[in-house]
Amino acid sequence: METYSSDVIKKIVDAAGKNNVLFSKEEKIPYENDASYIGGLLPELVIIPENSFQIASVLKICSQNGVNVTVRSGGTALTGSSVLQYPGILINTMKMDKIIDLNLSSRYVVCQPGVRLDKLNEYLKKYNFFYPPDPASSRASTVGGSISTNAGGLRAVRYGATKEWILGAEFVTGNGNIISTGEYTLKRSAGYDITALLIGSEGTLGVLTEAILKIEPLPEETGRILAFFRDISEVGRAISDVKNAGITPLIAEFMDLPTIDSIRDKLDINIPEYTQFMLMIDIDSTKKSLMEKITQAQVIIKKYSNDIIVITDRVKMEKIYSARKGAYSSLLKQRENDKQIVIIGDLIVPASELPETLKEIGKKIDEHKIKATLFGHIGDGNIHANIFVENTENGIKRVDELQMEIAKIAIKHKGCVSAEHGIGTEKNALLYEEYREKNSLYTLELMKKIKNVFDPYNIMNRGKIFYEKQD
Ligand SMILES: Cc1cc2nc3c(=O)[nH]c(=O)nc-3n(C[C@H](O)[C@H](O)[C@H](O)COP(=O)(O)OP(=O)(O)OC[C@H]3O[C@@H](n4cnc5c(N)ncnc54)[C@H](O)[C@@H]3O)c2cc1C
Repeated sequence: METYSSDVIKKIVDAAGKNNVLFSKEEKIPYENDASYIGGLLPELVIIPENSFQIASVLKICSQNGVNVTVRSGGTALTGSSVLQYPGILINTMKMDKIIDLNLSSRYVVCQPGVRLDKLNEYLKKYNFFYPPDPASSRASTVGGSISTNAGGLRAVRYGATKEWILGAEFVTGNGNIISTGEYTLKRSAGYDITALLIGSEGTLGVLTEAILKIEPLPEETGRILAFFRDISEVGRAISDVKNAGITPLIAEFMDLPTIDSIRDKLDINIPEYTQFMLMIDIDSTKKSLMEKITQAQVIIKKYSNDIIVITDRVKMEKIYSARKGAYSSLLKQRENDKQIVIIGDLIVPASELPETLKEIGKKIDEHKIKATLFGHIGDGNIHANIFVENTENGIKRVDELQMEIAKIAIKHKGCVSAEHGIGTEKNALLYEEYREKNSLYTLELMKKIKNVFDPYNIMNRGKIFYEKQD
């Protein structure tokens, strides 16, 4: 049944251009899901615009007529943030996929939202540069989606999350105004930082149509340490000690035995039999001093691990890196039956809190008698507790309860309920709990007021980030 009048639909189609609209159910069905377990509604129309003017015209009509709009790019969201919770239309920015400008001396690249992150880095590699944010989904995720979720990824331990890498943006607000924020320069002191507000806004304020991204020269040389552990808190201590010694690794990942097992065939290394956890650290340096730096880290880790492998061969390193990036998909092989799904958790604590946090999370999972595996970007304190459960009402309820208890552990240890995946519709309750616990629910009220300024008719990505009662 159509929710909006044929007159309104016609106006939207005319504004977008008929060739940029998907009408049939068959073409629209893929948009009912993102990479999370949370399904959404079938969009009334899917608009795949070519430019920001079309987006502005569509959003003006939608605002005037109360048509809800969900935005999407790569569709790899893990929190249900890129599917429809309310009837409406979907804007997919994947046709806007151009790299517009590159300036090496000023260290920036200008991109449209549909540029995939791996494609961007393939392009930059030709110039010996790279864009540091590196979510494991980088093959499919995009500039638009990663900015809108403030994505982190493997290199965040050194370079921070996406928010550190965005200088400016072109953005269409929910009511259809095209705005330009930020600059091409590293510094600016000129009023409110609107660019920062857009980062992590999950499509609730409008549509990002262009971004100015900072870039870096590629590291000269890198090497990798793999270390094996029996005990989870030893992993936390090892990485804390490495950082205490003033070493900031390029990446610092950990994984538990089930995760190792799911990618064991791709790792092609000898893993000691006692192993329950593996730590993977990349160190970068000049060609001359790389081994010196690796040895320094090795000596520290040796206090906690008897078995350490050092790899400097680029091909082997690349193979292991892509196996790690594929860990989530590989975990699906560990399901006990076809009905099971794997729900990826995403919390973060300061690195110093890791040993205690990891211990408490392990205990909580045992108490709940639910199958879960752990991996994550341990160098920046980001832990993914991945829960295996049947996709039934009762199964999801059990996961929600466990997620809430794990979130409370993170909050207690000065952390956050979402490190890099965003809130979507999966974590609204956890976000509310975080601010309730901090005695700062007014922060959430302020966020809603800000949304209202960008999106006065409340049409953009409704139901995401905040609790919202279904009409
Ligand atoms: C296998 C796998 C591994 C992952 N690993 C990581 C990881 O290591 N680190 C990490 O941070 N994340 C990770 N993710 C999560 C996800 O990939 C990231 O959040 C990603 O950055 C989303 O990009 P996307 O283009 O797919 O966005 P989408 O899924 O299309 O959208 C994500 C959000 O951004 C909004 N959005 C999209 N485009 C726009 C736009 N143009 N304007 C305004 N809003 C927009 C959407 O409305 C939605 O709220 C992983 C996901 C998978 C499936």
